[in-house]
Amino acid sequence: MNILVVAEVQLGRLKPANLAAVRMAQDLAAKSGGSLSIALIGSGVGDLVADANKYGVSACYTIDDQRFAHYTAGSFADAIVALVKDKGFTAVIGGEATTARDIFPRIAAGLDAGMCKGICAIADVDGGWGYQRPVFSGMALRTECIHTPIHVLTVDPTAVGEPDAGAAGEVIAFSPPGAADDAVTFVELRRAESARPDLAVAERVVGAGRGIKSADYLDTIGTLADKLGAAIGSTRAVVDAGWLPNEFQIGQTGKAIAPKLYIAIGISGAVQHAAGIRGAKTIVAINKDAEAPIFKIADVGVVGDLFDVVPGLIEQL
Ligand SMILES: Cc1cc2nc3c(=O)[nH]c(=O)nc-3n(C[C@H](O)[C@H](O)[C@H](O)COP(=O)(O)OP(=O)(O)OC[C@H]3O[C@@H](n4cnc5c(N)ncnc54)[C@H](O)[C@@H]3O)c2cc1C
Repeated sequence: MNILVVAEVQLGRLKPANLAAVRMAQDLAAKSGGSLSIALIGSGVGDLVADANKYGVSACYTIDDQRFAHYTAGSFADAIVALVKDKGFTAVIGGEATTARDIFPRIAAGLDAGMCKGICAIADVDGGWGYQRPVFSGMALRTECIHTPIHVLTVDPTAVGEPDAGAAGEVIAFSPPGAADDAVTFVELRRAESARPDLAVAERVVGAGRGIKSADYLDTIGTLADKLGAAIGSTRAVVDAGWLPNEFQIGQTGKAIAPKLYIAIGISGAVQHAAGIRGAKTIVAINKDAEAPIFKIADVGVVGDLFDVVPGLIEQL
């Protein structure tokens, strides 16, 4: 296949989820005997070319225009669709992240192509291949086949390793036709400012559940997180209670994370939450209920009252 990786750029930086997309694209290129290219879209993306163009791609396309200074799904999707049609790509791949969830279905629709989202592997099927992805909150793997000439894929960044390094490809500027998205106008970007690491890519995460009883205890959770240089995450119960905003939610309907260390505090371990921490290397659970499901997936379990255990832990660090 003639494969295009769409690298996601956020606030002038390449997102880590792109690496999973490149890895999967390299695997698909090996499987299908195809070539690999990468595309960057935005305004002033030239500075990012060196970073994106080091994985043995044949070309690195830049779609660099003031009209792409701010992300709007329609105009970005239209630009990628134009590039795919112009260059004859037969697979379009991105890392599964918030923007990808927004833009990739539009790209698939624009190309009249089948799409598989959040894939974790390529599997042999009847002399061809299909795409595997976790279903039922990660309890099973399903293999899906695409039967359209173009395949559109997003890749689960917690399930796929690093790409192989390789030579840089030719850098080619591409100017898609059309104007900015008429239906949507960028008004303002409001960003939560935090000195802590980004939850999606943090190496250490402290997760707070309903067991903390109230938002007041988040100060103590924050103290623990800061001692560890960790990000804070939470369950949906905490978000629903209004103790933390939505972007802190980990799980099936929140973020999927893959830290080296995840400390689950007062979290029962419902399947919907567990789905978001499958990629965590070491899970430490603190829960007063020895039967809580979180202990089935924890590497280290502390059965105890979090209001005793957490201050003790902070003291030891
Ligand atoms: C369609 C759907 C999607 C969902 N998506 C998500 C999702 O993305 N993410 C998510 O997290 N949830 C999600 N949920 C909700 C999920 O099912 C659970 O309700 C939620 O994860 C529970 O959160 P919790 O563990 O904080 O609360 P609880 O289940 O109430 O658990 C609280 C835990 O704290 C322990 N505890 C209480 N007091 C103490 C103490 N003093 N010391 C120690 N331990 C204590 C208790 O023993 C208990 O195990 C979803 C549900 C549905 C239906």
